[in-house]
Amino acid sequence: MTVPAIAVINAGSSSLKFSLYALHGDELQLRGRGQVEGLGTSPRFVARDAVGATLAEQRWPAPITHDAALDHVTGFLRERDDGIALRGVGHRVVHGGLAYHAPTRLTPAVVDALQAFVPLAPLHQPHNLGPIRRLLHASPELPQVACFDTAFHRTNPELAQMFALPHALHEAGVRRYGFHGLSYEYVASVLPRLAPAAAAGRTLVLHLGNGASICALQRGRSVASTMGFTAVDGLMMGTRTGALDPGVVLYLMDERGLDARAVERLIYSESGLLGVSGVSSDMRTLLASAEPRAKLAVELFVYRIGREIGSLAAALGGLDAIVFTAGIGENSAPVRARVGEAAAWLGVQIDPAANEAGAGCISTASSRVSVWVVPTDEELMIARHTLNLLSADEGSTPRAAGVARGDTN
Ligand code: AMP
Repeated sequence: MTVPAIAVINAGSSSLKFSLYALHGDELQLRGRGQVEGLGTSPRFVARDAVGATLAEQRWPAPITHDAALDHVTGFLRERDDGIALRGVGHRVVHGGLAYHAPTRLTPAVVDALQAFVPLAPLHQPHNLGPIRRLLHASPELPQVACFDTAFHRTNPELAQMFALPHALHEAGVRRYGFHGLSYEYVASVLPRLAPAAAAGRTLVLHLGNGASICALQRGRSVASTMGFTAVDGLMMGTRTGALDPGVVLYLMDERGLDARAVERLIYSESGLLGVSGVSSDMRTLLASAEPRAKLAVELFVYRIGREIGSLAAALGGLDAIVFTAGIGENSAPVRARVGEAAAWLGVQIDPAANEAGAGCISTASSRVSVWVVPTDEELMIARHTLNLLSADEGSTPRAAGVARGDTN
């Protein structure tokens, strides 16, 4: 007997990640995941099973295209087969604009509409759409679903979405959208079980990875975030500036002769931890480095987080909980400790031993604000959405309710 399954594709500028979930009853169970990374440099493929054992590995001597990476992944899934019947594919799509505020079944017309958001997410959107187009062409009968990083923030009040620009621009869609929504939605979905008081109150979720942002949750709904019209706003990131006085951009264009593409490269790819340190965009490398500018980059990273925590706590009218997630948030006790110090004035007290141990609640018993580490799982969120939309379309029952243990990363 075949087992129905959902595949998830998360395609970025230099990597293509995939996961496969089998459906048992109404539970999605991770079967395996993997990626082709280093596409433009020295590509390597690895696939692992649900407990992390390597299933397959491959390296290429020269760069390969995103299309070739997708073909390799689909070939791998087809060959392994495993008694799986693929019901559909869910994709992470960074920008859904105003129109796409929920997971959406993909057609060529929808993909064309999503193409309009490429200038708003030049680093991500084109790579998100590439595999969708290729699969629509190769397997038109295979259902595909887009899940948007912006969608979770559509609950933001109008004021939180506004720039102080002429209103016609707001009406035309020039507004704060917010990103990392699938990560925040996943965290919000597990908080009621893990930390009921935090879930019912005012919580800041700090998604600190190569991309970084903070989301303010009120009873589990997004009411504000640090990212804006594009994913370059807000916190300092691996290679992105975060918030930048727009006057700097005008100065660079007028006085330094940078054109729009050069500014784009500067603010998306050459700034942030990499630009300030001159060493690396990787937090592990910076923490291990004795280079003064590496230390300065980490200091600025934490300082910016501290300031944005203050701003978002003001938007919430107080603070009950903080959640750390993503690569740095989940793994770096030193960064968490320093963020805790920056937020001490709000009543945040991190327990050093719990912080070092690094999971669940890491605040002291007397901390006014509880502090948590929650591993995010954007892929599982996409699989749930995909299954739910396809089940609704087909008028059948299975809705992804349960999360089988062992399937969160
Ligand atoms: P992500 O984009 O969520 O995969 O996160 C990538 C970031 O997490 C990079 O800056 C990594 O250096 C950082 N990271 C991963 N593990 C650790 C760790 N143990 N300590 C500090 N940073 C880490």
